[in-house]
Amino acid sequence: MISIVTLAAVVSAALACNVQDQPDITVSAVTEDVYVLVCGSMNSTAIATAEGIVVIDTFETPEQARAARALIEGLGRGPVRYVINTHHHGDHVFGNQAYSDLPIIAHAEAARAIVDSRPNAEWASQIAEDHPGFVLTLPNALYEGDGMKIVLGGKTLVLKHFRRAHSFSDTVVFSASDGVLVCADLVFNEMINFWTGECGIDVDNWIAALDELSRWQGVDYVVPGHGAVGGAEIIRARREYLADLRETVVGAMQRGSSLEEAMDRMLAALAEYSSLAGAGRNLRNNIEIAWQIYADKQRTPGQ
Ligand SMILES: [Zn+2]
Ligand SMILES: [Zn+2]
Repeated sequence: MISIVTLAAVVSAALACNVQDQPDITVSAVTEDVYVLVCGSMNSTAIATAEGIVVIDTFETPEQARAARALIEGLGRGPVRYVINTHHHGDHVFGNQAYSDLPIIAHAEAARAIVDSRPNAEWASQIAEDHPGFVLTLPNALYEGDGMKIVLGGKTLVLKHFRRAHSFSDTVVFSASDGVLVCADLVFNEMINFWTGECGIDVDNWIAALDELSRWQGVDYVVPGHGAVGGAEIIRARREYLADLRETVVGAMQRGSSLEEAMDRMLAALAEYSSLAGAGRNLRNNIEIAWQIYADKQRTPGQ
């Protein structure tokens, strides 16, 4: 069992987006109606309709979320009407407080994990310590099953649920009329993020989810959870990374190596990813967590 006790510190260091306590957020238009807000390495998406705006993910702190909402409502595209949380991680939900007057939509499993996941609860405590006035604000409009739709102002947003891929529960959002797919943390573009063994990651399901999303038609733009907006190629790139990671780790296990014995060889096998942002620390971490995941699967056949 690999125990990670410094998630909050690691994540905050990686996500930092404040300049002298003021959130530093940029807004860019992806299409006529879709805007991506970037805060450090975090993305939040705003989709404008004729009857207001849908916001996807709320950043990590109340200050960031308040600043983001002010920017979004300053676009002149109407008020925010709905908020969607794609999954339980703090960098996507701890800003919910700034939208507590609105429906905040999430899958029921993601909502549960916001409080039930130990690393997330510790992360929330750290945010509360650093941000007086922080109130952990849970989604208040939950859905179950494989998906739902939001119909607003002439647009239909399709929410599709993937269970246990990057987390216990991942929702993607597709606006066909904009050609925009918000993949959240199913896709990190040109970066490797830190994993914990307690966040519900399932590498096999994650690869399967990306295979399915690669087949969706009408996707012109993909908004990742972290990193720059791209096209469908950033889904395929993430899929290749995960598949190579799986092949490397499972191959070493099948040869009977221990994690320690195989580490250098596995890092060498994945060297093509070593130049991605965060790889210096997180490539080794991803190997360790993937090893743990597949060791657990071997102990519980049929998983
Ligand atoms: Zn995440
Ligand atoms: Zn994230």
